[in-house]
Amino acid sequence: MATLSQKYLSTRGAEYGLSFEEVVLQGLAKDGGLFIPEEIPSLPANWETEWADFSFEELAFQVQRLFIADSEIPSDDLRDIINRSYSTFYHPQRTPLVDLDAKNNLHLLELFHGQTRAFKDVALAYLGNLFEYFLVRKNEGKTGKDRLHLTVVGATSGDTGSAAISGLRGKKDVSVFILFPEGRTSPIQRLQMVTVCDANVHNLAVQGTFDNCQDTVKALFADPVMNADHHLAAVNSINWARILAQITYYIHSYFQLVKSPSYKKEKLRVVVPSGNFGDILAGWFAKQMGFPADKLVIATNENDILDRFFRSDGHYTKTPIDSPAQAEEVKETHSPAMDILVSSNFERLLWFLSYQTNTSSTLEARRQHACESVSAWLSDLKSKGGFQVPAAVLDAAKTEFESERVSNEETIATIRETFATCFPTNTGAGSPKSSKTGGYVLDPHTAVGIAASRRSIERNPGAHHISLSTAHPAKFASAVDLALSGQDGYTFSEILPQDFIGLEERETRVTSVPPGVGWEGIRDIVCAEVEQELQGQR
Ligand SMILES: *Cc1c(COP(=O)(O)O)cnc(C)c1O
Repeated sequence: MATLSQKYLSTRGAEYGLSFEEVVLQGLAKDGGLFIPEEIPSLPANWETEWADFSFEELAFQVQRLFIADSEIPSDDLRDIINRSYSTFYHPQRTPLVDLDAKNNLHLLELFHGQTRAFKDVALAYLGNLFEYFLVRKNEGKTGKDRLHLTVVGATSGDTGSAAISGLRGKKDVSVFILFPEGRTSPIQRLQMVTVCDANVHNLAVQGTFDNCQDTVKALFADPVMNADHHLAAVNSINWARILAQITYYIHSYFQLVKSPSYKKEKLRVVVPSGNFGDILAGWFAKQMGFPADKLVIATNENDILDRFFRSDGHYTKTPIDSPAQAEEVKETHSPAMDILVSSNFERLLWFLSYQTNTSSTLEARRQHACESVSAWLSDLKSKGGFQVPAAVLDAAKTEFESERVSNEETIATIRETFATCFPTNTGAGSPKSSKTGGYVLDPHTAVGIAASRRSIERNPGAHHISLSTAHPAKFASAVDLALSGQDGYTFSEILPQDFIGLEERETRVTSVPPGVGWEGIRDIVCAEVEQELQGQR
């Protein structure tokens, strides 16, 4: 253990030897790369027996202890951060595993029992407490301008924003700005954001698309003026702490699986509805550490850059070769949290695959090779819209992953079919089921995963499939209604969580960004609102 590095480097090589705290507070590396651990730890030899009865929190602690040096966060503090993060969850097991279709060994990992009912709560509740921990420590005994103040700026299509706000509301020395495209989030998602009126929470409603919001955030992070006055911090899944937090539920799901009466000693495949590749990348880290999954299955919607990569000869490109007219256009689907053009976190995987497949004799040389390869690929992505990886890298990717693309029609059909045919019995309070028929209601993102799981089951009968449920269906009422209205036993109000009721009557706080102000206009709004917030505190 003492030999583990527990330091971090940038995928593009310009920064290395960084501490966990540095990479969490910095978010993105200065060279544009993403932070990765210098070394991936293994689960201890006896983890399957020793850890078997650990709570979710204790597993989270054990996993994170491997990645975070003791000298950075002492164990008592780390436990406290973790316990506070998950005590807000609505389910005692935090991420329970449900036998969705026991006959076919299909299990559903319910990741939506956090405060905003999406899997992103697992990481963002924790990230909020981490930021707070580091800031309290840095600011001890300091006053006024000497205090480090974080300005979190994030773009959202709905889920990241609400989970980030929930994780950061009321925290000292942090202001959080969330840019969302007005009219394009679901009504519930919007309410989850704008009904939070804490002084440090700033909702910015932008006239435009999610990509416009994202571009503004990138421009702000690159802006010298902004950086001169503010310490910007990131909450999207480029932040390493988010990936780290998500490793826990893969391992937790395994213990629930082997304890379930329906468990047979069969191969395990894990299916993950994917957009920015953060969730499934956590599964890959778990697998590298020793989580015994046979394959990780990427499930994409019609924004299928990842699926196209796996079906090509290793070409990662924004432009589908057979329909170049589609270039640089995100499709709006029923699973908006997965509507992306490029998957940022794929860069992290490519780094490791490049490193692992390189045959240089020293670790240093292999590391340098990986950084150079990734830098060149990402530069091609920017200038030419795509890049090609060597066969060895593609092969290495294929030993770990498979991919499936699921259309809008299949998404809706899967919600309908699941409701009509799946009546899981080992569900707990808060599972979205019909009280009349027992039919299970999937959210559209989860449905993409289930459709992919069904195909994987066809090819691998008998294998256990854990399919990740990334959101509660009540967050995506229109897709769920489209699939289920008129079906016997379906009433939307019945699956509505208690905490969603009455939101529309609450007080709201949101700044409408006038159209045409550009990113500089948004920068001025951010600066003015931080200034005002800080004055309110003095
Ligand atoms: C964010 C999100 C996803 C995609 O996760 P990635 O980590 O970006 O791959 C899937 N489903 C829901 C509901 C989400 O909010």
